[in-house]
Amino acid sequence: MKGVKRENMEIPKVYNPKLVEDKWYQYWLSHKYFAAKPNADRKPFVIVIPPPNVTAVLHAGHAFNNTIQDIYIRFKRKQGYETLWQPGTDHAGIATQNAVEKDLAQQKTSRHDLGREKFVEKVWEWRQKYGSTIIHQLKKMGCSCDWERERFTMDEGLSNAVKEVFIRLYEKGLIYKGKYIINWCPRCSTALSDEEVEHKESHGHLWYFKYPFKGGKGYVVVATTRPETMLGDTAVAVHPKDKRYKKFIGKTVILPLMEREIPVVADDFVDPEFGTGCVKVTPAHDPNDFNIGQRHNLTQVNILNTDGILNANAGKFAGLDRFVARNQVVQEMKNLDLLEKIVSHHHNVGHCHRCHTMIEPYLSEQWFVKVAPLAKPALDVVKEGKVRLHPHERWYKTYEHWMENVRDWCISRQLWWGHRIPVYYCNDCREMMVRRDLPATCSKCNGTHIRQDEDVLDTWFSSWLWPFSTLGWPEQTDDLKYFYPTDLLVTGPDIIFFWVARMIMAGLEFIGDVPFHDVLLNGIVRDEFGHKMSKSLGNGIDPLEMIEQYSADALRFTLIMLSSEGQDINLAANNFEMGRNFSNKIWNAYRFLSMNLDRVDSDFEKYREHFELSDRWILSSFQRTVAKATDSLEKFKVNESLDTIYHFFWHEYCDWYLELIKPRLYNKEKPVQRQTALSIAGFIMKETMGLLHPYIPFITEEIWQALKEGNDESVVTSSWPVYRPELLDENSGKDMIFLQNVISALRNIRAEMNVPPGKTAHLVVKADKKIYELIQQNSVSFLNLAKIDRIEEHTPQLVHGAAASAIVEGAEFFIPLADLIDLDKERQRLTKELQRLEGLQKTLSAKLNNEKFIRNAPPEIVKNEREKLNNIEQSQEKVKKNYNNLTGK
Ligand SMILES: [Zn+2]
Ligand SMILES: [Zn+2]
Repeated sequence: MKGVKRENMEIPKVYNPKLVEDKWYQYWLSHKYFAAKPNADRKPFVIVIPPPNVTAVLHAGHAFNNTIQDIYIRFKRKQGYETLWQPGTDHAGIATQNAVEKDLAQQKTSRHDLGREKFVEKVWEWRQKYGSTIIHQLKKMGCSCDWERERFTMDEGLSNAVKEVFIRLYEKGLIYKGKYIINWCPRCSTALSDEEVEHKESHGHLWYFKYPFKGGKGYVVVATTRPETMLGDTAVAVHPKDKRYKKFIGKTVILPLMEREIPVVADDFVDPEFGTGCVKVTPAHDPNDFNIGQRHNLTQVNILNTDGILNANAGKFAGLDRFVARNQVVQEMKNLDLLEKIVSHHHNVGHCHRCHTMIEPYLSEQWFVKVAPLAKPALDVVKEGKVRLHPHERWYKTYEHWMENVRDWCISRQLWWGHRIPVYYCNDCREMMVRRDLPATCSKCNGTHIRQDEDVLDTWFSSWLWPFSTLGWPEQTDDLKYFYPTDLLVTGPDIIFFWVARMIMAGLEFIGDVPFHDVLLNGIVRDEFGHKMSKSLGNGIDPLEMIEQYSADALRFTLIMLSSEGQDINLAANNFEMGRNFSNKIWNAYRFLSMNLDRVDSDFEKYREHFELSDRWILSSFQRTVAKATDSLEKFKVNESLDTIYHFFWHEYCDWYLELIKPRLYNKEKPVQRQTALSIAGFIMKETMGLLHPYIPFITEEIWQALKEGNDESVVTSSWPVYRPELLDENSGKDMIFLQNVISALRNIRAEMNVPPGKTAHLVVKADKKIYELIQQNSVSFLNLAKIDRIEEHTPQLVHGAAASAIVEGAEFFIPLADLIDLDKERQRLTKELQRLEGLQKTLSAKLNNEKFIRNAPPEIVKNEREKLNNIEQSQEKVKKNYNNLTGK
């Protein structure tokens, strides 16, 4: 056509994301669309990113989680909110220290060779080098974070927040130092919080040891899963009501191998059902024994060094590794005839979640946070709906249970990388001072020999402050006033306690308000067989490879399409074809439009008197799509929202509307009708790009830019499509479905009767006046789709001979066949087909009537054969009917 813009003629046949994605990302950055600042005229909408570890490389889980966040940020941005997506990374204490230590090991050196200061310098260098890897990768995905606000949990500002919080909690009596049993990783040589311990079901043994009574005959038998810990036993305990052992209470036994006298005590904690009902008590190496020890004033004998090697308290076993010692203890007990038996035993064994080494319950001096007073308000706000978990029914109970059973949080770590504990000691008088900075002199003795606590804080002790520390707290900044509380947190359920619950506690304690209102807990991305993706299994899918191969849009689209609210995703690499196909579908629709359209004129209202059924229908259907897509997003059903738009675009707009308007587009004689169709088609194409933009930002921008009108700048900042209920038209929907069904039925007839695709047929309609008129009014569009050249109303006089027919909602449709196909040939073909089916039917019936077969064959085979027979019989009916059509019956 005339007047087609030059660039339209150059639209490539195939969509090439490589020419599009980086180009638009740079455009968005240079226009500062992602930048947020306090703005009194707008409401804020804020998401803080779950800060990835600074060591991290983007994996499929990150890709999924960040796609969801970007969808919400882009959605709210288009709705006119001042949106802030706060990015940053976490210093990830143990993880980062381990990574750098590995690096050093390759260079044949270690952190101990370097010393603390040099080592920490090395880690900072390492962060400079690798720390922004994941940030670049998030940009590649299209994430619209305000990058100028990028934070790191060891930034100066965030470090101040950490110190402030430590001091406030200490002054409030909620932080204390004490000697308790904690989880110890001998490999990482640090304490771990309860949440950092992974419990693995493990096959072990119960060893039954005899402990002889002092100065007399007899012995007690105790059972243990960790024989080497007997070296640290300081008592034997029985239940006070256990009749078998009442007589032993108060007696003394001799601890074998150590020749130590230890008492038999009575304690309610002892489970008479476990082992023999007599238990050995090792206060320094078991949390329950620790408590028993406290109640009975027992000595604590620590037999282990921090690296898992036995120390001098283990006597002649000193210097042995814990597992070597285990074997030797058992061997010696056997030699002494003190090993009664060994029984297999399944139990849960704790492992370090970072390095998977078996942890040791270990007595040591650590810093703790009293969690219970913080947990209560953090449970209340969730109960009251001030913080809402999505999906609620799946996570609320878990959250409640955990919050009602919190234990104190061990926050000190024996690492070098992290926030050093702001506590100072006087070497002269041992005074302890909790300070923001190194005190020049001791507050008690004025001495100047002052050293800082060696330990650092748990990584989560900085990430629990993330929603407000990133906004400048403890300063009362404008950002904090405007952007806090944030709105939405999107994270994996695996860190609901590590992080989500603690952020709620911190927000309430330090700011006096919840940190966010909604928490969307996304599922885990698994491989196609439902296994967790992992480096060691090699079953991971690299999102960057998928972007390279398919596009960032395809990556995002596919992840969301495969997910459903809070459920895990099973993912195979070829799933991303789904995303690529959708991009191609969009591209083809756009190309088709551009061949006919100069520019979008979305003021379709002026053509209202020329609207046809298909126009009213598509406008109405689009309104329902806008309403549902918006509502689903507001309800955190991201997949449902995308699926709604996808279905509308593919199955209604492309498959039907663009087909239905073709006769109008190709008819240059009626320019107004043509313009009407183009105006609506262009409007819907452009608005749909707006709806799809949060999900697939790149291709939607490319097309939106080509279709934009007036002063529009970018689909990023253009308004979210507005729901216009006045365009709803229920009747058009009903009529449209009816006509679609008629067309499908006619297409079906053509296929069944072997009508050559090039031949147009004629249609006879037997229906009431209203329906006949409906068909007539829409004849042009519909006839095009079913290849019909003329429509005729059925009358009693009308004789059409051999014809195929269909009934749709009571209306009858006939297609006379004489002019379409060679009736004789078709009869022959159908006769043959009928014979073939009869043969099959006979064989199968015989088989199913054979009792022997029915008796011996597996039920699913029998069921299968019955279904086959059923299908054959249905086909026979169909062919008979088609045959009868040919005879005019
Ligand atoms: Zn470890
Ligand atoms: Zn002092």
